[in-house]
Order: sequence, then structure tokens, then C-alpha cells
Amino acid sequence: MELTLTSPVQYVPRVGPSMAGKLRKLGIETVRDLLTYVPFRYNDYSLVSKIARVQPGETVTVLGKLESIKTFFTKKGKRLVTAKLADDSGRIDIVWFNQPYLLNVLHTGDTVSVSGKVDWFGPKVVFSSPEYEILAEESDGKGSLHTGRFVPVYPETSGLSSKWLRGRIAFVLEQSLHAVTDELPPEIIAQEHLMDIQTAIRAMHFPTDLIEADRARERLAFEELFLLLLRAYEQKHQWQTTLTSHAIKLSGQNLMEFMTALPFVLTSDQQTAVKEILSDLGKPIPMNRMLEGDVGSGKTVVAAAAIYASYTSGFSSLLMAPTQILAQQHANTLEMILGTHGIPVELVVGGKKSKTKPTLGPRVLVGTHALLTSDGIPSKIGIIIIDEQQRFGVEQRATLRSLTKSVYTPHQLTMTATPIPRTLVQTVFGNLDLSVLETLPSGRTPVKTWVVPKEKRASAYVWIDKELAKAHSQAFIVCPLIDESESLSTVKAATAEFTRLKRDVFPARSVGLLHGRMKPAEKNQVLDDFRQKKYDILVSTPVVEVGIDIPNATLMVIEAAERFGLSQLHQLRGRVGRSDKASYCLLFTENETDVVLTRLKAMESVHSGPKLAELDLSLRGPGELFGTRQHGVPGLTLASLSDTALVARAQKHVRELIARDPDLTEFAHLRLSAKRDTIETTQA
Ligand code: ADP
Ligand code: MG
Repeated sequence: MELTLTSPVQYVPRVGPSMAGKLRKLGIETVRDLLTYVPFRYNDYSLVSKIARVQPGETVTVLGKLESIKTFFTKKGKRLVTAKLADDSGRIDIVWFNQPYLLNVLHTGDTVSVSGKVDWFGPKVVFSSPEYEILAEESDGKGSLHTGRFVPVYPETSGLSSKWLRGRIAFVLEQSLHAVTDELPPEIIAQEHLMDIQTAIRAMHFPTDLIEADRARERLAFEELFLLLLRAYEQKHQWQTTLTSHAIKLSGQNLMEFMTALPFVLTSDQQTAVKEILSDLGKPIPMNRMLEGDVGSGKTVVAAAAIYASYTSGFSSLLMAPTQILAQQHANTLEMILGTHGIPVELVVGGKKSKTKPTLGPRVLVGTHALLTSDGIPSKIGIIIIDEQQRFGVEQRATLRSLTKSVYTPHQLTMTATPIPRTLVQTVFGNLDLSVLETLPSGRTPVKTWVVPKEKRASAYVWIDKELAKAHSQAFIVCPLIDESESLSTVKAATAEFTRLKRDVFPARSVGLLHGRMKPAEKNQVLDDFRQKKYDILVSTPVVEVGIDIPNATLMVIEAAERFGLSQLHQLRGRVGRSDKASYCLLFTENETDVVLTRLKAMESVHSGPKLAELDLSLRGPGELFGTRQHGVPGLTLASLSDTALVARAQKHVRELIARDPDLTEFAHLRLSAKRDTIETTQA
């Protein structure tokens, strides 16, 4: 059977159903997937030497004949395979550990090429567990796959070795590489001095040197970014050209009334955000804007301005929050702001309809995902606001949009406290417009932060106890992140920690427990009690209630801090520092490797969310930024969004291309790629 790029990988010779199952674990399903499987490093076996000239410490390749091969046990019971290899200059011993099957593979008299590190083994210089390859007799080793060159090393899975993958990849390179076509327009390839796609794929696997490997990587990374940007553009383009919404106008007079009725003056960032939003709302094209701002930066009042505009224009508004508690908080805040203008706010949580009677005029509904199933949704919706959008699934967001049962698409505002680095905004979120609240309302001081190593834990507890007494304040203690979701083991860990702290560490204090498996009413009760100062300390699981606002809490203690991303830590830290009292964040860790400590120490000196996000991005990659399961970052394999230079190059060409041909009519191929919907968050 002729193999095509889309053939299931099972039909590649020597793969078959069982290996195909293992390949699937690596994300390889088709011939194309195998062709584009990325090695994570290369072994430099390109130095070929005569045996007599081999030096201990060197990584080299030698060619010779096996004079003997046998297996024996060391005194400690370890199984060794030893062999003697000879060429015309001399002979050398080879030792392999724990690979007894080699006796079935290699035989005395075989011509082999071995590559690896040469080292002392007792008094002798030997090859230690080298890669090997059996060659045809009299071969000079040219064209070998596993030795004598730059050898790619691939991520493995159990029962599937890098060496085996290498063999299969070499096979499909010969059979199928010619079928791969270039997605990038030729003039871009020329202007950017990029390799063509076939050369790049070949060189990614079998480069002649690291410079060539880098160029291959650059080409493939460029393409990933280019397509990502193009897709974001395509979605924005479609959104703007195919959808219509109500134009919502707010008179200058009304805006003034809104501003003057507020109990505070908006920060200049808030004013800018309000201006940007009102300008979008005024158009019959649906707004698709993200409002980004640290916890406490005052996003809700900006949302309130949008709701106010919608209401005074005769349209209803929906605000959806990820949890009941947050929905309740938003409802309270909105009531405070909008109530003075006689605008009623209805709360929809847990399937229950609001107590307020629906009116004929516009309405303001605030709720959880219960909004999605509530049947009293008004028809003329001006704006939908989604708080902490990354916590909602794509489908939920789509349902929310479709609920409106109207030809008019509501304007959309998503609010997030997850600091998103600029490069990410330009790429993944490229179809969103962005407003950022960079500065916190005045009067807040940064949360003093310390990393607390193991040996200081006991004294830290003493300090916490004193601080609670001195400042009459309260503390959060966040338990280790075990799973992304609120699993039973997370709850168990938190419960055990709660018991330990209550009994052994703070016997004189009242301690509360909060976790996500509690019933909403219980959670509310615990939080209310904490707010009423019935507890000094609240022990909580990590994923619970990202947005709660308890100004009297000034201490945040995070257990096993190394398990969190910096952005996550920053968000947790944002729970405190919400009043004019001095606030503190203690990051406990038992892991004291340099990498961990350096990363955590950044929290002591950096207090800007976006900066920490940039750091996270460069240290841990984009996946970590949102936690492993949260949506939003497509699987980039080669490109790094922290490579701002490459992002900028790709962006320049995307801009030029769409300026010339906005519907991509000349580029059918690219148009298809761009429409391939891989960017979930951009559906927001
Ligand atoms: P977040 O961005 O975390 O959602 P909130 O909207 O909950 O922040 O605002 C946090 C607190 O700051 C609220 O109590 C709010 O009333 C207050 N706040 C918002 N804007 C200002 C401002 N410009 N000046 C003073 N306080 C403000
Ligand atoms: Mg909020």
C-alpha cells in the first residue's frame, strides 16, 4: 500500500498495531506526525576516531570488528555485557550495563560502529554503554543512522525507544518527505532566508551540525507562529465581517453622572479602559475585548460602566462569574454602583431564579453558569461580561452567546486577573482587543514576600502567630496543589493539614477549613465566618475561590509553593494587601534546589503581574501559565512565545499578507490552515 502523509502510522513497515498504540501516547497518529516528531536534543557522535587515539573523557565514534562478546555478573550482582572491539590501530573494551539482550543482537565477527563516551572503568579505558550499529562488512560507516554523526534523541515512552523511533523516522523521510508541501508563500521564505519545508524537516532529524539544526528549528518555529497569528487574524476578521450587534451609545452627560456618583475617582487606567469599551460599544460590530488587571485593580467598576451604558440604551446585560461566591460579590458591588441610578441587579445562582420580578425593561443579570440553564434570559442583550474567563469551557461560552436567540451578537467583555504577557496577547489572543489596568488604586502597598525554607518553618509559624495578635488580622494558609481540579486527594491533603495546624501548630487559634467539595452553602458559611473574624486562620485548597475579598486578612501562606506557577502565586498573593495594613506572603517550600529557589525568589522582588508572567513564560513555558488544564495556549512544539524577535518577524509578514489579500483568496492552502480552529480561547 502506498503511504501518504495522512496514512495511519500503523501501516509504516515494522510499526503495526501494537507499536502504533504506543506511538499514540506520544501524539503520533499519522505518517505526517511521525515525520514532524521533534527531537529534544542531539548527540554529537560526529567525531570518528581510530581506536588507538581514543582519549578517556571523549565522546567519539569508532568502527571495528567485534572480537568477543559475553555477559557476566559483578560482585554486586549487576549484569554486564562486555565486548572487545578491534580496528587496524588497536582494540578497546566495551561495557554495557543491564542490557543482556545484546548477546542476541551483536555477535563475534560483526562489523559495528559504536558511539559514546569513553571512560575509565577500574584501571582500563572502555566505552561505557555506547550506542551501536551493525554495519555491512567492509562498510566505512557512511550513511549510518545511530552512530558517527549528529544523532537525534526523541522523547520516548515505555516500550518505545529513541533508537527505534529514529529508524522509523529515517524510513518515512525516504518514503514520504517529498509529499510535504510548503505552507509559507515562497516570497516570505526568500525574504526571511528560511529553509524550504522539506530541507527543514530533514535537517531537524539529521542535521550535519548544530547550526543546521538551529536553522531547521527556526524555519519550523516561524511557520508555527505565522499560522497562529494568521488564525487569530482570520477569526477576528470573520467576527467583524459576519456579525452585527446593537450599537450602544452613552451620552457625555450620562457618563458624567455615572462617574460623579462613584465613591472614588477612577484611576487613569480605568478611565482609559472605560473609554475604549464605550468606543467599541458604540459600533454595530460586536466588541470582543479582554480586560486584564491584577486582583484588586478594580475591574468590576469598569464592567459596571459598560452595564450602565447598555442599560441606559435599553439593553440587558449578563455577567457570568465562575463561582457562586464571586457572583454574589459582583452582584453586591454592582448593586452598590448601579443602585444609586435605580438599576436593579438580579442574582442567578444554582438553578434558582432571582427573587426580583422580571421587569419589562432592560435587566442586569449576574450569576454563575446557572445563567446558561436559566430560562428567563432576556432577548435584547447588549453585553455579556465573563469574569475569570479561562475557567469557563469553550462550549459554555458558546452556549452563553447562543442563548440570546437574536440576530444581534452581544458585545463581549472578558475579565481576567491572569497576567498575560504581551507576546501571548499578540499571538494566541490576537483576535481580542485588550485593555489593561496596570496600576492599582492608590493607597495599596505591595505585599511583602518571603520564601521560607524548611529549616525556618517553625520560626515562621511563631512569627505568624505574633503578627496575627499584633495586627488583629487574619491569615490564609493554602495547601499544596496536588491536582488541577479539586480532587479527593486535594481535599484529603487540605483536611489533614487543617487538623495538623489546629492541633499542633496553632492550638490557641480558631482555624477554619474551605475546600471545593463543600456544598455552596457551607462554603458561604465558612467565608462569612472568616469575614466576621470567627476564624483567625483559614486553611484552603488552592483552586478555591480566586476572587474573594476579605480586607482584614493580611497574611497569605502558601504550602509547597514550588508547585505553582509565578502567576498563580501572584494571584494567590493578591488575596491579601487589600487594606492599608501591611501585608505579607510566605512561600513555604521543602524543595531547595537552585532552580526552585531562584524562581520563587522572584516573588520577593517582582510585584508586577505581567512581569511575573513573562518570567513564567521564559522559565516554564506557556502551558504552565494557565495551569495544565486551562485552555488558551495551543500546543506549540517548536516555537516559543517568549522569542519576541521571531514573533515580530512572523507578525510583520502576516500583516503584509492580509493588507494585500484580506480574504486570503490567493492562498487557498493558508486559508484552510487559518480556519483550522485550534485556538480555543479566541472563541471567547
Ligand atoms: P478586581 O480587579 O480584582 O475585580 P475589584 O473590582 O473587586 O477588583 O476592586 C477591588 C476593590 O477596589 C473594590 O473594593 C473596589 O471598590 C475598589 N476600587 C476600584 N477602583 C477603585 C479606585 N479607582 N479607587 C479606589 N478604590 C477602588
Ligand atoms: Mg474581580
